Amino acid sequence: MGFQKERTLLEDLIKKAGGCAVIDGGFATQLERHGATINDPLWSALCLIKDPDLIKRVHLEYLEAGADILVTSSYQATLPGFLSRGLSAEEGELLLKKSVTLAVEARNRFWDAVERNPGHRYNRALVAASIGSYGAYLADGSEYSGCYGPDVNLEKLKDFHRRRLQVLVKAGPDLLAFETIPNKLEAQACVELLEEENINIPSWICFSSVDGENAPSGESFQQCLEAINKSDRVKAVGINCAPPHFIESLICKFKELTEKLIVVYPNSGEVWDGRAKRWLPSTCFDDDKFELFATRWHDLGASLIGGCCRTTPSTIQAISKVLKNPEQSHQQAETYAFRSTHENLNRGERNHRR
Ligand SMILES: [Zn+2]
Repeated sequence: MGFQKERTLLEDLIKKAGGCAVIDGGFATQLERHGATINDPLWSALCLIKDPDLIKRVHLEYLEAGADILVTSSYQATLPGFLSRGLSAEEGELLLKKSVTLAVEARNRFWDAVERNPGHRYNRALVAASIGSYGAYLADGSEYSGCYGPDVNLEKLKDFHRRRLQVLVKAGPDLLAFETIPNKLEAQACVELLEEENINIPSWICFSSVDGENAPSGESFQQCLEAINKSDRVKAVGINCAPPHFIESLICKFKELTEKLIVVYPNSGEVWDGRAKRWLPSTCFDDDKFELFATRWHDLGASLIGGCCRTTPSTIQAISKVLKNPEQSHQQAETYAFRSTHENLNRGERNHRR
């Protein structure tokens, strides 16, 4: 029963949101802006221990900005990660549960307040429990290389994900978000785990991409989507934490490879140096660009759009505004399409004359 009901929950939300639901934006980025220090293997999960109120505050900021879906702070929260910090298994499990409870509480508090306000334009948000890839736990940048080495096989990946998945599911999120999956093997592990554990909460599986064409491992998305396409438990598939300029062609590619909903939440375009653990400066995409992009991505068939690292509530506000106000968005998209064709023509001309 849960399966049908929850499936409707996600589809209802997308419908209510005008055909495309808005996911929140960078979590750690926003924590840092509020002064949290998170240069740590546990990343934002450290805040679950140190400052849970701040996590709730960031969730509320994204809700105010117009996010229809909150992603929990559990991306880097893993049981082995907590154990290595001296916490017991029980304490670790409580923290995982807390990541869901904090988002649910923020959602309920916000919705209670908003509902009293006639004429508001918000949707009751859903909570997606974040499940970071094995590479995110290793914290060695391998979620962007896809290289887990010869010792990591399907069973090992399933065992890594199993207990956390069980704990998160028990905490009662509306959705499950597998994030920055870098290779075919881990995608398959996630799908088999959902099956083995008989998980009836709808999931999305997102890959990262470093070349704009393939998974970070170099495997094609056709290969990566094989197992996913066979599973009814995965409702959406897509890309997170890749730069915005990769997204348009990847949506087109995914459209050809799957019937599932397409989900995209890129980073701001800045580059994370996994080894040095810092952001390298790069061409930044401001909120205006995100407005135009979001319109294009929706037109091309994405049903879930948000932001990843280095995007902020103002990015999400821009996306939400433009997606929920289609009149304005289509005008802008046309201008954008015109402008990019124009630029391409100019470029072609220059090339030709050389
Ligand atoms: Zn990211």
